[in-house]
Amino acid sequence: MGCSPSYARRFSYDDKKGGFQKEWSKSNQSEKVSPGSRTKIINRDGGSCLRCGLEDDAALEVHHVLPVSQGGTNDDQNLATLCSHCHEAAHGGSKTSGKTVYEQGDFRDWIQETDRCFEERSESLGSRQMKISDY
Ligand SMILES: [Zn+2]
Repeated sequence: MGCSPSYARRFSYDDKKGGFQKEWSKSNQSEKVSPGSRTKIINRDGGSCLRCGLEDDAALEVHHVLPVSQGGTNDDQNLATLCSHCHEAAHGGSKTSGKTVYEQGDFRDWIQETDRCFEERSESLGSRQMKISDY
């Protein structure tokens, strides 16, 4: 038949997913936190974003305090609950830039000194689709 099997493999994440494709190809081993681990970390952190206190589960993600690319692990102590907005901020505005809060100073200081981001969130609700930590 005229059906090409290779066609299906040529899928790609479109612009909506931003740099997801890049991150995926760069490191497909341990960047992703399992759903079970995600739930555990979020529960540990009180079910809310450590930075802004948002309690919207759909927007919560698990952040690697020390990036996997720098030797970080999926151990509990290296994971922290952030909403999608704060997560992006933790990575210097882009989850795939490789620049993280860790390089800018202590993560705990960062989440405490930063302004609440409820106002900012209104303009970034589109990022709710980017639940990459769910994979
Ligand atoms: Zn937040």
